[in-house]
This record gives sequence, C-alpha cells and structure tokens, in this order.
Amino acid sequence: MKNILLITIFISLIFSCKNDQNNNGNLNVVTTTTLITDLVTQIGGDKLNIQGLMGTGVDPHLYKASEGDVSKLVSADLIFYGGLHLEGKLVEVFEKMQSQNLQTIAVSDALDPKTLIGSEYFASNYDPHIWFDVHNWELITAFVVEKLSEADPGNTAVFEENGKNYLEQLGALDAEIRATIETLPKEKRILVTAHDAFNYFGKAYGFEVVGLQGLSTATEAGVQDVQNLASFIIKKNIKAIFVESSVPRRTIEALQAAVNSKNHHVEIGGTLFSDALGTRGTPEGTYIGMFKHNVNTIVKALQ
Ligand SMILES: [Zn+2]
Repeated sequence: MKNILLITIFISLIFSCKNDQNNNGNLNVVTTTTLITDLVTQIGGDKLNIQGLMGTGVDPHLYKASEGDVSKLVSADLIFYGGLHLEGKLVEVFEKMQSQNLQTIAVSDALDPKTLIGSEYFASNYDPHIWFDVHNWELITAFVVEKLSEADPGNTAVFEENGKNYLEQLGALDAEIRATIETLPKEKRILVTAHDAFNYFGKAYGFEVVGLQGLSTATEAGVQDVQNLASFIIKKNIKAIFVESSVPRRTIEALQAAVNSKNHHVEIGGTLFSDALGTRGTPEGTYIGMFKHNVNTIVKALQ
C-alpha cells in the first residue's frame, strides 16, 4: 500500500501542473487537521483556495493519505501541517514532497523547541498537541501570516490585517478561559481524558492532566492502565472524566466502568474536542469556539 502511494505521488508529480485546478489566481493551500484549516482560513480568507484533508472527528495520529489527497497535495502551492509527528502516517508522504521541492510547512516550526513538552512516545521526541496553549497559537498565527506573505506578497496587507484581528481575538479568548478556570477550586483542576492531548493545556492553565491512552491514539490502553487510572480517580475523588470527539467513546466508558466496579462513581463530564474541531458552521467548528466549549465543559463537570 505504501509503495502504491509513493508511486502515485511520483506519477502525480510528473503530470501535475500547478494552478490548473483553480485558475482564479489564488494560491492553492492544503492543510491537514481542522485546527490548521481554521487558522489558515482566518488569515487567508477568500484570498486562498484552501483544501483541508481531515474533517470533523478525524484522528490525525491514525490518518492515512488517500490517492485523492495525494493529487491535492501535489497540486498545492503551500502545504501546512502540524509537525512533531502529529500526522504520524503522513510523515513519509511529506518527506517525499520536501525532496521534490514542494512547499511543506510544519506549524510547529513557529515554536522554540525549548518551550515544547518532551515525549518518548513520538518519533519527534515532543508532544505535538501544541494548540492547547493559546500563546502557542498566537505564535503560530504570526508564523502563518509570514509564510503566506512570502508565498503571495501581493496579499501581504490582507494577511497582516486578518492576522492582527485574529491575534486580538486570541488575546480575548485567553483572558476569558483564565477567568472561567478561576471559578474552579485549585484542587479540582485534574483532567482525565481518553488520550494525552492536554499537556500543554495543563501547563498553561494549571491542570494536572492524565490521558488513558498515552499521547498517541496509536497505542491502546491495557487492562492495567485502566485499573491504575481508576484507582487514581478514586484516590483524588475526581468527579468527572471526559470523552474526546476524535477517540472512540468506549475507552473512557471502560474507565468509568472500572471506577464504578469499585463502589465509586465518576461521571462522563461531556465530550471535548482534542485533535479535531467540531462541525463546520457550529461554534465548536472554530479554534476559539472549540476552546471555550472545552473549558466550559471541564469547569462545569469538575465543580
Ligand atoms: Zn492526539
């Protein structure tokens, strides 16, 4: 399968002719996750032809490129992806493209490696869930403005204006979520979720964070992991645990069942968006709406 994909890339590269698909003069930009699609849309607006590969509820750790994706990728002027091996199964495809001089940009390159959280679970040695600190997303916003301006200098003023407006909204978001979290007593700030997507959130906003499946959904939680975490929940008297929209619900239900079998009760506090946004057109379909939803859900359930 892998070979077929690489052959497809090669053939597509030979026959691709950039800008053939969309001849409105706009740059063709391909993005991977819904989070990155949203960000590039906020900044590029109607000046770009943006195609997002992954939809709502799609898990980037497990996502494999289809042949349709490959043809979108080879006809792109710019490709934005998460980086740090977030898109574990696309790494090889991106590396192949880089060697063909296609413009692939990892948004994680916006951040100083010293500020990243280390992880032995990823080949990058870093936790790739960088978007859960609004400050990181601010740095990435400025980085995307810069990269789009380099690729399309004629629209620099538009990208800069949109970027400036978006940074203001992100500043307001950060202040709002901090105020919401302030209403939750410090000892209740423990977040248990299906996989370890919230370490940057925990570090930035003062939560202890535990994920059942580890950092990537590519590893399944074992029976012992479930039992250990159930004991932790009971010991810390945690009221609620959380489902994630891009991870099957059964992982958290198994944990709830393990807690309840020990004569304790833990609620499922709601669904958080971790590696994918909500449905397009709803508030949770944007980064800002998603973040507010998550914080409101967490704070309400843990009170
Ligand atoms: Zn993840």
